[in-house]
Amino acid sequence: MNFNELNLSKQILKAVKEMGFETPSPIQEQSIQPLLDGHDVIGQAQTGTGKTAAFGIPMLEMVENKKEVQGLILAPTRELSIQISDELSRLGQFNKNINILPVYGGTNIDRQIMKIRRGAQIVVGTPGRVMDLMRRKALKVNNLKIVVLDEADEMFDMGFRDDMKTILDQTNQDRQTAFFSATLDKRIKEFSDLYQRNPITVKVESSEMTVEKISQYYLEMAKGMKDEILTRLLDIYNPKLAVIFCNTKRMVDNLVEILSSRGYIADGLHGDLNQNQRDNVMNKFRNNTIDVLVATDVAARGIDVGHVDIVFNYDLPQEDEYYVHRIGRTARAGREGLAFTFVVGRDIYRLKDIMKYTKANIKFMELPTIEDIDKAVSENLVDNIVSELDKKHDYTEEKYIFDQVLEKGYGSLEVALELIRQTSHKSNIKNHDKLENVDYGEKYSFDTSSSKKRGRGKAKKATGTRVFINKGKRDGLNPGNIVAAIHQECGLSRDSIGNIIIKDNFTFVELPNKFVPKVIKELSGKKIRGKVVSVEKSGK
Ligand code: ADP
Ligand code: MG
Repeated sequence: MNFNELNLSKQILKAVKEMGFETPSPIQEQSIQPLLDGHDVIGQAQTGTGKTAAFGIPMLEMVENKKEVQGLILAPTRELSIQISDELSRLGQFNKNINILPVYGGTNIDRQIMKIRRGAQIVVGTPGRVMDLMRRKALKVNNLKIVVLDEADEMFDMGFRDDMKTILDQTNQDRQTAFFSATLDKRIKEFSDLYQRNPITVKVESSEMTVEKISQYYLEMAKGMKDEILTRLLDIYNPKLAVIFCNTKRMVDNLVEILSSRGYIADGLHGDLNQNQRDNVMNKFRNNTIDVLVATDVAARGIDVGHVDIVFNYDLPQEDEYYVHRIGRTARAGREGLAFTFVVGRDIYRLKDIMKYTKANIKFMELPTIEDIDKAVSENLVDNIVSELDKKHDYTEEKYIFDQVLEKGYGSLEVALELIRQTSHKSNIKNHDKLENVDYGEKYSFDTSSSKKRGRGKAKKATGTRVFINKGKRDGLNPGNIVAAIHQECGLSRDSIGNIIIKDNFTFVELPNKFVPKVIKELSGKKIRGKVVSVEKSGK
């Protein structure tokens, strides 16, 4: 189908073309006409399938240039309100005198009131702020042509049910009503019974969706290997923008710290951040000032960040449905994408369920080795040099420096080699830890007998710094429970923990320098064998 086949105005067709949309997506194909014809609609399609335009285009066609709010969109978060409003502004760029206003908490309400008074035809906002504006009589919702609940399931999850009800109860009865959501459940059906008339349900099955364009892999590993494998994949695939999903806020913070300490430009997004912090992170991500965004499900839901190359499921999602949301962050609007899912032990059974549920073809992938990284890093470097050379830069300034080196008697080849050495050195500073099995030609398999052997019997090379733990043999400590505690509390891989010397009343543990502050911070005050330990740097 073509956009021309839908009954759209010249302005909208021009905007759609300008935005680079070639054909309507399935949810758009099936929702736009019914909405234009005056029907109520329930639209279900996963993230990244163009739901905004599915309701945004008909809404823009409906509103007239008069000083009344005629379209109201409720969305779960501030980011989404802004994003929807931006998308609508682009779609409406040739519609003269149609103002679209995002409203949300955490900012000056008076300014929003002023903007509504000056005349906004479409308002997009979070339920809380919309109610607030209604209470202050700034926002009138009794002349609506259409009201839309976007990400309706998410708004129920976030506890907005009563707010949504309050708002819908005050709107004029003859408005159209549309609910858009990635999932449909009882709560939406209940609302539909209350607020819609003969709704048309439009459901886009997962097989029709962009997910097809995402190459999906899973990698089996031990828990302690996750960070190392993650950074290997980052170095090998060298994404401009990657999103990593974790299941807890604490893990998000942890991982941001680990990645930053290893030289990646990373930041985190989770529900505990205040609005300012969230805006900050999102802006950095949009301007490409960070390479890696670490996020929880709720924080990243529905947010369209553009060019995400790779999505990592660092933790397996807790709900099957989340898998689809998560990997929907990549391959937006038809681009190709890559998704890696980390699987530890029994996770594999859950993954099988996810595959069944999503009908996704998630392929097994071997764990990457240090050799794989070296190979990829040099290939990337070659590609990069070649593509920059092809750009035919102006080298006037560089030539000046180059000539000075030549004058000192060195040849072009020598200079080139030294510069390559420096560049590749820079990309190799992310010092990878060797992993047993993986880097010694053996394939990793989740086999308890080999993991029991790990770290036993052979003295590890003495690297880094010793930390002092104020409990020892008399407190029941043994190498096993110390390694387990450091692994669990601090997320260090077992392989990165060096020699352990246990005395009667205290213990020394050797750790790579880079992990010392982390272990001191995160293990102190925790219990090993029921005893609270304190950890400090050892004076040797
Ligand atoms: P959803 O709300 O379903 O998660 P969005 O409305 O945020 O999806 O759209 C995702 C991305 O796809 C946006 O960048 C949007 O501009 C783009 N997009 C929407 N419709 C089309 C289309 N028909 N063709 C190409 N890109 C589209
Ligand atoms: Mg959306």
